[in-house]
Amino acid sequence: MVIVMKRDATQEQIDRVVKRVESVGLKTQLNLGEELTVVAVIGDKTRLGDIPIESMVGVERTMPISAPYKLASRQFHEEPTIVEANGTKIGGKKIIVMAGPCAVENTEQIVHIAKVIAKSGATFIRGGAFKPRTGPYSFQGYGEPALKMLAEAKKETGLGIITEVMTPHEVDLVAEYTDIFQLGTRNMQNFYLLREVGKSGKPVVLKRGFSSTIEEWLLAAEYILAEGNPNVILCERGIRTFETHTRNTLDLNAVPAIKELSHLPIFVDPSHGTGIRSLVAPMSKAGIAAGADGLLLEVHHDPDNSMTGDGIQSLFPDQFDQLMQDLESLVGAIGREI
Ligand code: PEP
Ligand code: MN
Repeated sequence: MVIVMKRDATQEQIDRVVKRVESVGLKTQLNLGEELTVVAVIGDKTRLGDIPIESMVGVERTMPISAPYKLASRQFHEEPTIVEANGTKIGGKKIIVMAGPCAVENTEQIVHIAKVIAKSGATFIRGGAFKPRTGPYSFQGYGEPALKMLAEAKKETGLGIITEVMTPHEVDLVAEYTDIFQLGTRNMQNFYLLREVGKSGKPVVLKRGFSSTIEEWLLAAEYILAEGNPNVILCERGIRTFETHTRNTLDLNAVPAIKELSHLPIFVDPSHGTGIRSLVAPMSKAGIAAGADGLLLEVHHDPDNSMTGDGIQSLFPDQFDQLMQDLESLVGAIGREI
């Protein structure tokens, strides 16, 4: 349920409503919009019993939220959420591009790729220090040394860092280095991890689970939001279907669907969504045309020798540069900037 306050409601009236709701053990979150203040009631609303919230001074109306997620819902928060990381605003008019290798391999590699993508217009360097691999014998990432390499790439270029965190106990460590946590497809429903990054308050890119519905994905986002962290960016990265030609099926339906259902920014990752280098640029353009706020892309200067199997889906630097130029002409047609 949300409580919509009157336009002229005073702070004191808002505080009184919040206090009343919290007095029965429920939690609240405020959306102080430009026009209206909305109070979200979190928890089992039957606890409110007969309390006449609707008739409290300053209250305009109460409204049930039909979706099981509340804070992620457009009904609670009508304006799009803008997430800020390393001085970049994500979710506004400007399309934001995050790019880099699947995994951080050495300082030279990550600094080189960071310089190349920065020159083409990316604003974040990606690269895994902790890699969620399907098999236990595959390269698992270099851990903290790789985080230090990312920090070096940031120092050299000014790019922000996005890197994956896999376990709750590594959240503090990764937070020391990164500007944005990446939560991978395999961890979308790791509820302890969701809560932990929620507590940290740092921006999070929450990738869609490869077998998850849009509703399950928004409920995963809700775990982060419910801890008081509003800085959630969703990322469609492909789902499992019967199709085997591509690594996954990039579900671009999800982009406008998320825009209808939620206020959170939405990104597309066509690298994992297709698994095929030649499909990455076309599907990047399709994602932006569908309304995505940004892209998460794998780029490698020597993909044949990359340490994960994801070289086959990594763009070469010149392909990345071409894509960025192509996007420049595309975004004008849809009222965006890059
Ligand atoms: C990645 O970004 O390299 C990655 C492992 O992504 P996903 O979680 O989408 O598979
Ligand atoms: Mn990868």
